[in-house]
Amino acid sequence: METTAETIYRKIIHIDMDAFYASVEQRDNPEYRGKALVVGGLPEGRGGVVATASYEARKFGVRSAMPSKRAQQLCPHAIFIRPRFEAYKEVSRHIREIFSRYTDLIEPLSLDEAYLDVTTDKLGIGSAIDIAKEIKQAIKDELQLTASAGVSINKFVAKIASDINKPDGLKFIGPSNIEAFMETLPVEKFYGVGKVTADKMKRMGLHFGADLKKLTEEEMARNFGKTGRFYYQIVRGIDDRPVQPHRETKSLGAEDTFPYDLTEVEEMNAELDKIGETVVKRLRRYELQGRTITLKVKYSDFRQITRNQSFSKPVDDYETIVTTAKNLLLNSGIENVRIRLLGISLSNFGELQERPPKQDNTGQLSIFDE
Ligand SMILES: [Mg+2]
Repeated sequence: METTAETIYRKIIHIDMDAFYASVEQRDNPEYRGKALVVGGLPEGRGGVVATASYEARKFGVRSAMPSKRAQQLCPHAIFIRPRFEAYKEVSRHIREIFSRYTDLIEPLSLDEAYLDVTTDKLGIGSAIDIAKEIKQAIKDELQLTASAGVSINKFVAKIASDINKPDGLKFIGPSNIEAFMETLPVEKFYGVGKVTADKMKRMGLHFGADLKKLTEEEMARNFGKTGRFYYQIVRGIDDRPVQPHRETKSLGAEDTFPYDLTEVEEMNAELDKIGETVVKRLRRYELQGRTITLKVKYSDFRQITRNQSFSKPVDDYETIVTTAKNLLLNSGIENVRIRLLGISLSNFGELQERPPKQDNTGQLSIFDE
């Protein structure tokens, strides 16, 4: 049997628009160009978070999902505006149309981000790097916006690569460079490794991919659960997940396991505040609103309960989500309990939603971060 390198390796491109909402606003409103611009919740409102900050605002440390109040402290001269999702969706439709000139294997992760499998492209171009260049150019010419592209043989590496030369970047990590690249990658840069996991890794002396590689698959699984096995593969450059054009999100959330059991309601509420922030960030990222809020509680004896509440209208705001979760927790009985895990998720998204992914880059658990 004859095989060539071309037939062995897949060609995966990850495209990610640069500072998407903010860039669209700067394009459409010349007065915002060159200015520190924050799209998201206004700092005057309670619970408002940053959806996207322009690069001018990022210089001051403003980041997505940060409370808008905090963003204003860091960057007092920033202009705060509410998002215009209709405009972003229009751009999103256009970039997907551009992608579809090259392949039908498109897996959108959010309005501004997608994986493309161009192993066989419609135009017979062959080079994934050339295709990425053409797509970036088309986005510039037709939309006056910039995107960054990562090109590799799997989704995980392509996704990390797209982030390397942002904005307007293009990074190719070829098969022979993948393992070396993964070895020097700091653990917190592994897509999907949350802060809790990254901190745990560091406490164990695991700072880079090379350190993770020293652990056996069993050790990885014992310490980091299901995702541990995933990272065991990933650090060796192995990620066989296909680019999936049609996926449906059934629920989206976040949960946290605590280093010690929570016994005080103040502690529990503080944790729900944090988890709620992550959930809102993810909802924004995937453009989702859900009608059902679910609270998950695991006790020190590993008993687990879920409690949920549904709403007549879809919700995605921090205040509603966190308040509901706190009430559900209160009603579940918090006298004399020891809690080791709390989680909040949203579901019941309805048909209006565009289809974002159930999982993105961390295998089974992805949208749920540890
Ligand atoms: Mg982006």
